[in-house]
Amino acid sequence: MAANASRPTPEDDSIEFADEASHPTLPPASAWRVLAVDDDQDFQRSLALAFKNIRILGRPVELVQAFSVSEAARLLARDRDYAVILADVVMGSARDGLKLVKGIRGMLGLTTPRIVLLTGQPNFAPIDQAMEDYDLTDYCLKSDLATRGLKNILTGALRAYAQLTTIATAHRGLERILEASNQMAGARSIAEVARTLLDGLGALLQIPIDGMIAIQAGEVGIPGVDAATEARIVGAAGCFAETRLQPLNTIPHESARRLLNDALSGRVSIDRKDCQVLYFPRQHAMAEYAVYLATPRPLDAQEQELLRVFAANAAKGFGNVALISRLDQTAFTDALLNIPNRSALLRELGRLRGDRNGSGYRLVLLDVDNYGGLNDAFGVALGDRVLTALVARLQQRFAPPTLIARIAGDVFAILGKHNAVGTAHAAAVFEEPLAVGEDSYHLSACTTEIALDARDGDSADLLSAAWGSLRAAKARGPGSAQHYDPEVERRTGERFALISRLGKALRDEVLFLVFQPQVDLRTGAVTGAEALLRWPTDDGFIPPNTFIPLAEQSSHIDAIGALVTRHTCRALQQLAQAGLGKLCVSMNVSARQFDANTFSARLAEACAEAGVSPDQVGLEVTETAVMQSVEAVIDTLHAHRRRGGSVAIDDFGTGMSSLSYLLQLPIDHLKIDQSFVSRLESDPRSRTLARMIIDLGHTIGASLIAEGVETDAQADWLRSNGCETAQGWRFARPMPLPEFIDFCRAARSAD
Ligand code: C2E
Ligand code: MG
Ligand code: MG
Repeated sequence: MAANASRPTPEDDSIEFADEASHPTLPPASAWRVLAVDDDQDFQRSLALAFKNIRILGRPVELVQAFSVSEAARLLARDRDYAVILADVVMGSARDGLKLVKGIRGMLGLTTPRIVLLTGQPNFAPIDQAMEDYDLTDYCLKSDLATRGLKNILTGALRAYAQLTTIATAHRGLERILEASNQMAGARSIAEVARTLLDGLGALLQIPIDGMIAIQAGEVGIPGVDAATEARIVGAAGCFAETRLQPLNTIPHESARRLLNDALSGRVSIDRKDCQVLYFPRQHAMAEYAVYLATPRPLDAQEQELLRVFAANAAKGFGNVALISRLDQTAFTDALLNIPNRSALLRELGRLRGDRNGSGYRLVLLDVDNYGGLNDAFGVALGDRVLTALVARLQQRFAPPTLIARIAGDVFAILGKHNAVGTAHAAAVFEEPLAVGEDSYHLSACTTEIALDARDGDSADLLSAAWGSLRAAKARGPGSAQHYDPEVERRTGERFALISRLGKALRDEVLFLVFQPQVDLRTGAVTGAEALLRWPTDDGFIPPNTFIPLAEQSSHIDAIGALVTRHTCRALQQLAQAGLGKLCVSMNVSARQFDANTFSARLAEACAEAGVSPDQVGLEVTETAVMQSVEAVIDTLHAHRRRGGSVAIDDFGTGMSSLSYLLQLPIDHLKIDQSFVSRLESDPRSRTLARMIIDLGHTIGASLIAEGVETDAQADWLRSNGCETAQGWRFARPMPLPEFIDFCRAARSAD
């Protein structure tokens, strides 16, 4: 069965191997292919005769003949799949045979075909060296073919070839397994591992892939796959592609279905002529898997072995992915409510904003009103059940792909398309009461909404902008809704910046007190002073009406309270040293300063340190401050009174005090707010109110101090209407202590 071959071409010293060759593949099961290269027509003819009907190692032999080195080169460039190459040493030139061998091993890089050199003239070529250099299997005289027998020589060469190809195939197989394992190790989902596994199997066995992978997650389940006892197809390719994600028992391929079920229930791999079913046990893959692969031919022992190695690696791939998704689940799921958490929300925000800037999507935040009160009143367990019921309600109202996440105790995020998600949609969730067990609860929530493309910055910035907006909604009271407003965010940002600057200023002890004299309206004598805080900065003074409320929102009010108390006492000490020991200095106290219950102790300590008596210290509290925590304030003020100190209600008439509360307070002075004083001349209503305040003060036994007195007319009116004391620019502006001391001395000497 000699193949047709053309006549030899004229001799050429260089051999050209075209680079169009296919790469070596598995040895053909049908016939050994032998290439004979010889320019001796008679010899070739006798070879063709000898190959007829020859069988070696159980297979027929196919002879391909080339009559020159260049013809051989052309044949080899087209097809490298030869088991043995018989080459004549001396052809056109004396070294043609060796040139050919060099080309095969060197340029073509063919290492598996066995080469047998033939020669009619012994001792012509330096054969010993060539045998070593070019991996020659044999070297024989053409005359040997008769004596030793062609068949014997070929059998030896073919056996060597078979061994080499076995090793090479195993090597390539292992390389492919390694490659597939690396890919599987990088896979992040079961679908990805499944796809890589099927591709890897196809590459390993060099067959087209018709296969599918069934998973049995079991009762526990694994993330991304339903916890179910029913097996399901997680990956499929080729003629089974349609079965992906279907329950195993509903797929139409009867025999494959049966075999997959057999493998899963019997926990075994199955080897058939036309298919392979691999079983992966739970201990390696964290779920049970079975892979069905149709094979166009039975697999040989070597392929079976490779398949086993492959399966062991694939199981690790499945195990890895299950582990990763389990870690993923822990990191991105709220443990109590089993819904996405803040990290999951941020991840999804990032994904949507990466995609067309997130336009068309909206984030809603929702903060349950008075959830803390509910917890305190009914216990944490009920609080948890209420949240669970709320999540169920939200899930009913916002179906996937809208995402519902819990981002703090009682704060939820809803992320979805802008036509499905908004504050109005969120508010509608609370229209009906929530049923928890036998009871039902009428909840409300503050909400805010922000478009995903509303601002620059990353997802965390967007979320914190939404938080800011939610805080603004909460400040407006239960059930409030607030749409994100960049202007509000800018102001909030400025507020935060100022709060942190205030912290630094306090640490650097930059703030100081000034003193505004209080004057007896009848005698003109200085009776005392109000201590007012000043914060100097490079851009001038920041007014206390700006920084005190910020300090009250942060913890800085505590440091401010401590500073004012200490400095007030030191001022009293210096006044005494200046011979002004009778004067009283009052300081302003915020409601929050009473919270910690350390106020009295701190004042006593500061007085003792400065060696002054508490009865020289006046406290000014506003009506609103008192109303915020009545009990704590009343107790502290009473204690101060018992030590001889005085108490004034500041800005009186501007708050909304209930008189019954007011009468419980130990009050020495009512301070008429400057808003009435400034309108005394122009507004009869203000005069009426001022008169009422003076009457009320006298009724409860308090004296009156008018604030913000700027003109003689105001002072005259106040004096003639019974107001005892005044404070304001008409008499003096707030001033540093040394100036205040000078002011008092000057007033005294004027008497
Ligand atoms: P306040 O306690 O009612 O203090 C009186 C405010 O009126 C002071 O403003 C004072 O400078 C201003 N004032 C005095 N006389 C006149 C006048 O004739 N005309 C006008 N237009 N204003 C006058 P200031 O110092 O800016 O303080 C504002 C507020 O900040 C204070 O109101 C007080 O509530 C708060 N504050 C000031 N210092 C402290 C402090 O040390 N601690 C606390 N908690 N609050 C303070
Ligand atoms: Mg005051
Ligand atoms: Mg005031």
